[in-house]
Amino acid sequence: MTEFTAPLRTGDMPVPEFRENGRAVLEWIASYLDSVGDRPVLPPVRPGDILNRLPAEMPEKPEPFDAILGDFDGLIAPGVTHWNHPGFFAYFPSCASGPGILGEFLAAALGVNAMLWRTSPAATELERRVLEWLAGLVGLPGTFRGILYDTASVSTLHAIAAAREACGLPLRTEGLAGSRPLNLYASELAHSSVEKAAICLGVGSSNLRKIPADELGRMDAGALAAEIRRDRSEGRVPFCVVATIGTTSVTSVDPVKEIAGLCRSENLWLHVDAAYAGAAAALPELRDRFDGWDQADSIVLNPHKWLFTPMDCSAFFTRRPEVLRAAFSLVPEYLKSGEDEDNLMDYGIQLGRRFRALKLWFVLRYFGREGIQARLREHIRIARHFAGWVDEHPDFERTAPAPFSTVCFRAAPEGVPEESLDELNRRLLDSVNGTGEILLSHTRYRGQFCLRLSVGNIRTEERHAHDAWALIQHALTKLKGTAPGAGAIERSAAGS
Ligand SMILES: *Cc1c(COP(=O)(O)O)cnc(C)c1O
Repeated sequence: MTEFTAPLRTGDMPVPEFRENGRAVLEWIASYLDSVGDRPVLPPVRPGDILNRLPAEMPEKPEPFDAILGDFDGLIAPGVTHWNHPGFFAYFPSCASGPGILGEFLAAALGVNAMLWRTSPAATELERRVLEWLAGLVGLPGTFRGILYDTASVSTLHAIAAAREACGLPLRTEGLAGSRPLNLYASELAHSSVEKAAICLGVGSSNLRKIPADELGRMDAGALAAEIRRDRSEGRVPFCVVATIGTTSVTSVDPVKEIAGLCRSENLWLHVDAAYAGAAAALPELRDRFDGWDQADSIVLNPHKWLFTPMDCSAFFTRRPEVLRAAFSLVPEYLKSGEDEDNLMDYGIQLGRRFRALKLWFVLRYFGREGIQARLREHIRIARHFAGWVDEHPDFERTAPAPFSTVCFRAAPEGVPEESLDELNRRLLDSVNGTGEILLSHTRYRGQFCLRLSVGNIRTEERHAHDAWALIQHALTKLKGTAPGAGAIERSAAGS
């Protein structure tokens, strides 16, 4: 027989202590935002360094909050890559703006689960309204219904699941075994999440047709039409096309209008992946890049990429929410609520969902349409300047057009043979990233290793791009310089 003894202390952190600790946390965040540019963007750590400094066992006794916050400051913060750093130009920047952080703070405090309308009416209804605002901001008609997921990968998975539901076969009940093969189409430059979705949904990666892109990185619509015809003639079932506005590698734009026409005549679901670039549709002067996207069945756009909303927040829009619902709705007895309100759990895989709309609401209200447009325009202006500097420099060249705020380029100094340029640029990238001042990433495009500089961080100003450019030129000079013995270029030319 066990006796029930009173534990040492039960219940939550007492409110007075919460208030005091909360002030300390807020103070930490404010100082961090104030000085994040002084930290190394990429932490000078090696794999395992942080793990080895963390105790193997969890504490037996309660620990004081000061000690936890102290270790956060001394051990964790120096071991993160600072996406909030103004010199963060890698991948697509994803930064946390002040209002976004504060909205996230409040969402964490509420801790609601918006699976059903009744489990948080405000979370359900704010999500609806805030996505109507977002659709309006980027010029989409009110016929699009929005829903928030965590990432574009998950949004695209839901799009392709809806497309599969729409294809008219009894796949929801029977599964794909015994069905004719389904075919999905995307450009060779489409994001890997499209292929992952094909894997997860049982379509199979070999049934994703990777359509060639032209010299500007745009999906070849003629080749797409030909593939669809060929698949149909072989008894296969084409069901979905994913077009991209702003490919991850080089931000190229597929001919969405033409593809939309084809999808209409072929009765295929069109999903537009605008995870990064979608935010730019807030600028009327860039709307031409989005021509035809309003004819898509679904669209994804990530506020956590270029809309200053902290990770994670991906906006999914569809003109056919009833199809998404048909694909995912499944209501067990214990979740029946008697209300015929929209329950967000019916529109996806997950049951529990975070109150993501709150931070987005804070961001959209705090900056307003004008404030958002001004920041996006500034980022595009900075990127154009950078592209101009590259174009003017004899030792550098651009490797792709820059329709948004991402510039792809490489060093190609005279006298260095083409076959040595990949190695030279790889070293250049390591060299600039090693300074901790900036972070760039790379891609391989049309056979060339190239560097990517993407402007999208709310703290980035022209001077940061200017410093980045100085650093890149300096690093190239050092690589070209004659260290004792042969210069780096001669070494890389020799293929070492
Ligand atoms: C970043 C990106 C994705 C993936 O975004 P996540 O939110 O990280 O899943 C998908 N598509 C494109 C075009 C992207 O740039």
